[in-house]
Amino acid sequence: MSTTYDAVVIGAGPNGLVAANHLVDTGWSVLVLEAQPDVGGAVRSDGDVHPEFVHDTFSAFYPLAAAGHIEALELERFGLTWVHAPAVLGHPFPDGQWAILHRDRAVTAALMEQQHPGDGEAWHRLCDQWDRIGDELIGALLTPFPPVRHGLGMLARLRSVGGLDFVKTMLTPATEVGWSRFDGASPRTLIAGNAGHADIPLNAPGSGLMGILMSMLGQTVGFPVPQGGAGMLAQALAARVRAGGGEIRCSTEVTGIEVSGGRAVAVRTKDGERITAGRAVLADVIASRLYGGLVAADDLPARTMRSMGSFQLDPGTVKVDWALDGPVPWASPPPHAPGTFHVADSVEDMAEALAQVNARSIPGRPFLLAGQMTTTDPTRSPAGTESMWAYTHVPQHATRDAGDGGIRGEWDETDCERFADRMQERIERLAPGFGSRILARRVLGPRELEARNANLVGGAINGGTSQLHQELIFRPVPGLGRAETPVRGLYLASASAHPGGGVHGAAGMNAARAARAHDRVRTAGGLLPRRTHGGAPSSVRALDGPPAGV
Ligand SMILES: Cc1cc2nc3c(=O)[nH]c(=O)nc-3n(C[C@H](O)[C@H](O)[C@H](O)COP(=O)(O)OP(=O)(O)OC[C@H]3O[C@@H](n4cnc5c(N)ncnc54)[C@H](O)[C@@H]3O)c2cc1C
Repeated sequence: MSTTYDAVVIGAGPNGLVAANHLVDTGWSVLVLEAQPDVGGAVRSDGDVHPEFVHDTFSAFYPLAAAGHIEALELERFGLTWVHAPAVLGHPFPDGQWAILHRDRAVTAALMEQQHPGDGEAWHRLCDQWDRIGDELIGALLTPFPPVRHGLGMLARLRSVGGLDFVKTMLTPATEVGWSRFDGASPRTLIAGNAGHADIPLNAPGSGLMGILMSMLGQTVGFPVPQGGAGMLAQALAARVRAGGGEIRCSTEVTGIEVSGGRAVAVRTKDGERITAGRAVLADVIASRLYGGLVAADDLPARTMRSMGSFQLDPGTVKVDWALDGPVPWASPPPHAPGTFHVADSVEDMAEALAQVNARSIPGRPFLLAGQMTTTDPTRSPAGTESMWAYTHVPQHATRDAGDGGIRGEWDETDCERFADRMQERIERLAPGFGSRILARRVLGPRELEARNANLVGGAINGGTSQLHQELIFRPVPGLGRAETPVRGLYLASASAHPGGGVHGAAGMNAARAARAHDRVRTAGGLLPRRTHGGAPSSVRALDGPPAGV
């Protein structure tokens, strides 16, 4: 039996759900098929660590959602409430001092000024520059490449932020950008730590832009979280799709995309069902599982498969969740409690850990990104306790352990638990007694992450490396730098497409817009039916939109 929709979206991650929302808003009939039992992709929460605690299974803080396409969906009408920690981000130093990024830039700057006279004013200067150009820069990053409208907007404002000097700042590596503008450790460390949210080496171009972008987002929209757990964001996105008439089916894995005459016409599920896509198939699927996986190599140009041979995953991840019976016992408490915190002794310590990952070594002193979730959202666990997590990156294929040599890189239970001990030890040094507060601990290594979401291949969290050679027109591979694919009617809607990882929904929105634009070309002359519904065969008779260049 075959059923028909205008669009079939494969995967209910944030990108798939944003794409589905856009298409139902324009009147298309949409079916979203999700392999896992629940929607959300890497935006889910669960109660598996401890029955009285909510833990975000993967992602936790959403500045990019607040700045991107997700904010425009008005999800508050579908049950979403954003909440914020007292401070956005903290970085504890071994000497007891803290670097703090407070949502109020005056507080951030005053704390920096206390530590190093002059840094407060320098921070205000950076914020002022961002106020003038930040919106255009974010717009340029979140729209398809080349970003004509926002690019022109940026050009118009460039002189007001210092012209080429500003461009140079954005291109300066994260390890250097702080030195060029600040004297104290706090601003340098905050910017470098924020750069560490992507896998760009901290001494490479692109890292500085990432560090400034995330820091300035912290300063403007904050790092919000959905009240009640990350899953509330996914549920709101899904509720909005359904309210618009879209359908979502979970526990339904797509195993193949049928191509006929160079066009994606249907998908097949693991249960053997065939579902026809009258207008488009949008794949919220990692590129390496789409090309030569869901789409057979025979249905693709040979050069696409050749290019995919050079597709590079981002590193793997080990994430640890803790249920604590009290707050983190900081040896030296922060002046304002942060939601997110980073653990590294210094920028150099951080750079070394990330360099080890890039050199295929398991870091001896891993750089941690961590979250105090009950501090941020008191609904996450009983009063006085803390729902907490930390994650760090590990090589996809480790050749050595830069620590005590005991971790083999197999990422079986033994490796995961030993590495979690290594991560925990870093927190224990800053918060003696941390271990004694643990009610329960869960370790999700690369294998566990992938088992919960097939896009997280080997624990890669961003759908492929974010390094410059795989960004913009090179994402996921040269020649495929837009949502369009070599198969007509098939669009790449996942983090593997520009602009990459993070919960902003841009890849989904770009794919949905591309699908509509091509559909308008096909339906020129009104030859296609306006809306295709379950059961009715689609009658595609008009022009096909152009395929991508490869
Ligand atoms: C541990 C971790 C922490 C992170 N922290 C943050 C953070 O704090 N803030 C932030 O902005 N970003 C964070 N990220 C990154 C962010 O979550 C991802 O970049 C984002 O979720 C990508 O969205 P997506 O829709 O492209 O893919 P995903 O969220 O990965 O969703 C893809 C979905 O497609 C489904 N799927 C795949 N193949 C098939 C198939 N064949 N059939 C049916 N369904 C299929 C999967 O099951 C999954 O549900 C984090 C990621 C991880 C893993």
